[in-house]
Amino acid sequence: MTAGSEANPLALKIKDRIRREGPIPVSEYMRICLGDPEHGYYRTRIAIGAGGDFTTSPEISQTFGELIGIWTAVAWRAMGAPAQVNLVELGPGRGTMMADMLRAGRIVPGFLGAARVHLVESSPILRDVQRQTLAKSAEQVPIIWHETFAVEFAGDQPTILLANEFLDALPVCQLVFTRGEWRRRCVGLDTNGEFAFVPGEAVVPERLPTDRAPREGDIFEFHPDFPRIADLLQQLAAKPLAALFIDYGHIASAFGDTLQAVRQHRYASVLEHPGEADLTAHVDFETFRRHCVERKLAVDGPITQAQFLLNLGLAERSQKLMSTARPEEIGLIEAGVQRIADPFGMGGRFKVICVRSPNVPALPPFPPTS
Ligand code: SAH
Repeated sequence: MTAGSEANPLALKIKDRIRREGPIPVSEYMRICLGDPEHGYYRTRIAIGAGGDFTTSPEISQTFGELIGIWTAVAWRAMGAPAQVNLVELGPGRGTMMADMLRAGRIVPGFLGAARVHLVESSPILRDVQRQTLAKSAEQVPIIWHETFAVEFAGDQPTILLANEFLDALPVCQLVFTRGEWRRRCVGLDTNGEFAFVPGEAVVPERLPTDRAPREGDIFEFHPDFPRIADLLQQLAAKPLAALFIDYGHIASAFGDTLQAVRQHRYASVLEHPGEADLTAHVDFETFRRHCVERKLAVDGPITQAQFLLNLGLAERSQKLMSTARPEEIGLIEAGVQRIADPFGMGGRFKVICVRSPNVPALPPFPPTS
């Protein structure tokens, strides 16, 4: 590859390992690139926002977190307004969504007094940013940080869980169909000692897309962490639970390579600059949904982010915001709202799915029966 990649310490480290142990599965490559304690992408930088590599809906418009805050308060009411409720956020980024949620939640009497916020964040750098963003909120609501998602911290209280762009950051396994069989897709080295995709051991997939037969070179992806996440949701559901996952992905399982690298707001090569680019994979909502349904959880959606936001009152909220904004801010507010709700852009690409205890009623804007 390029001479530049030689100066990349994580590239050298991964190449060393491949020389010693042979090719590593794509999921392992992704896990190292994002999570290596010394050089991992999320460990070393503040990636999110205009100055980072990519931006997210809560960073684009405050209406996003505000509407999710209202949704959360509605969920709390639907649970019977319990005296204590855990607000768990997985992968809170800069803490912007939670700050906007809590500000909006103030209008619902009793809600903030009941809330205990739990932020699940693996990056020490982002935890610091979240502490700063949420300094004011922390005067009103207890906020606790956790490095990994577990059920213990929820105690016996009901939980409302939010996750925007969390599932896409989890390592994805890839299988490649070649010469009539499925092989694990791995990262190895070519004859020049540069990273290259290579087929690994043969595997028999548990389940495949049903729309057509596989063809030579087809790639099939699955997230090995999804069953564990569904297990944790199932345990929380006993208390009970309402959870919202927002991410980009496809509604039906399909063949295809969705692993992508983004660096400085541009697509980059997955194998170049390990640890310096964000790596994500699309969420297969059909599979995620199935894992939840198999565990007797109720699932609503997925619906598009545009449907979700507009039906929760995005237009009204943004009108209100613009009516009190300074003239020079109005255009920016409008542009942000349009961007997160554009059905041909983020509003269509992103989907929203609600996972809840069967005894919690379906929550707006999802239809009453699922
Ligand atoms: N929700 C935020 C950030 C999305 S980026 C937003 O919308 O702006 C993904 C977030 O998940 C980052 O905060 C990242 O550090 C965190 N993350 C990624 N993998 C994680 C893991 N395994 N455990 C906990 N947090 C993780």
